[in-house]
Amino acid sequence: MVEYIGTARLEALVARVGVARFLSELATEIAADYRRWPAFDKSPRHASHSAVGVIELMPISDGTLYSFKYVNGHPKNTAEGLLTVTAFGVLADVATGYPLLLSEMTLATALRTAAISALAARHMARPDSEVMALIGNGAQGEFQALAFHHLLGVREIRLFDTDAHATAKMLRNLGRLDLPGLSLVPCASAQAAVRGADIVTTVTADKRNALILTPEMVEPGMHLNAVGGDCPGKTELHADILRRADTRIVVEYEPQARIEGEIQQLQAEFPVIELADVLDARAAGRQSPTEVTVFDSVGFALNDFSTLRYLRRLVEADASPGTRLDLIPVLADPKDLFARLLPPTAEAAPWRRSA
Ligand code: NAD
Repeated sequence: MVEYIGTARLEALVARVGVARFLSELATEIAADYRRWPAFDKSPRHASHSAVGVIELMPISDGTLYSFKYVNGHPKNTAEGLLTVTAFGVLADVATGYPLLLSEMTLATALRTAAISALAARHMARPDSEVMALIGNGAQGEFQALAFHHLLGVREIRLFDTDAHATAKMLRNLGRLDLPGLSLVPCASAQAAVRGADIVTTVTADKRNALILTPEMVEPGMHLNAVGGDCPGKTELHADILRRADTRIVVEYEPQARIEGEIQQLQAEFPVIELADVLDARAAGRQSPTEVTVFDSVGFALNDFSTLRYLRRLVEADASPGTRLDLIPVLADPKDLFARLLPPTAEAAPWRRSA
């Protein structure tokens, strides 16, 4: 039987652990896997594009466990009452090829994206960072806000979205949580939100080369957490921000970031650093207080691998009754698969009678 985590179970698991601890433990889990980077069989995800969105498959393995995630990105969906991003994932045993866990990953993706954003920022943002601008207040918004507050100690978050309802929703949701020391400031424009901020998170959805941040908005020492640009032709930063001599760019997995990240706007040989090198101290996340750092996040399969393994551990430690799926047939004789299709009393099957 395959362990199953649906949305209700995931909500219960997060509630049991608490969002802050969940994000923190998940960031630790992800960091531990990035530190054993060479152990993974990695590839850019497989993307099937259409005029309105993309459906992607994201596989990875460390030789012991294998995972894949199905994820879509359809920026026009919210106008139809649907999510922009939905996902589910599978964790499997490499030794047998048997799936171990099937999980919802829409909520899990938002949690893991926020966790890795905060993880990268811990190594890239100035240590005295306290103020973050959050441009794009849709489905991912609260998760990013909470990760930066709980994991980095950000105390002021300035919100901007072209849709005022999205910002109002974030204020309403975060206002229901006990977040002492965090102030939320709705802003009239991206420029107003970004001015003087230590960190800028862009997490907008638009199927084009958007210009959420332009060079004159970027101040010395800022850390840019660019999350929303994650497909060919779908970016958020003006290319000149990336080209500045004092800009340092970190990506999750270079071959995939070259296709999907902000750096798709640059020449193929433009130097970037992989997050694994920063986490392993082979490269600096930041070299000076005035350098501009960019975490060009597109979402890599390893983030989901770590998340699925963490979820499996939580489920194993959870006393509440779970759900198991009969996804794989159980057989007395593994060569006798057809036995599962025989009528209940084999004697009744005419083709089994001897002549
Ligand atoms: P969403 O549609 O729920 O929210 C996006 C928000 O961006 C909307 O509220 C929209 O009004 C706003 N927006 C669009 N253009 C804007 C602009 N020019 N200025 C300000 N706001 C603008 O989508 P979501 O689920 O929150 O995802 C946001 C983006 O993050 C998507 O592009 C998605 O593909 C990406 N994403 C990346 C990762 C990753 O790992 N890097 C993971 C999940 C989602």
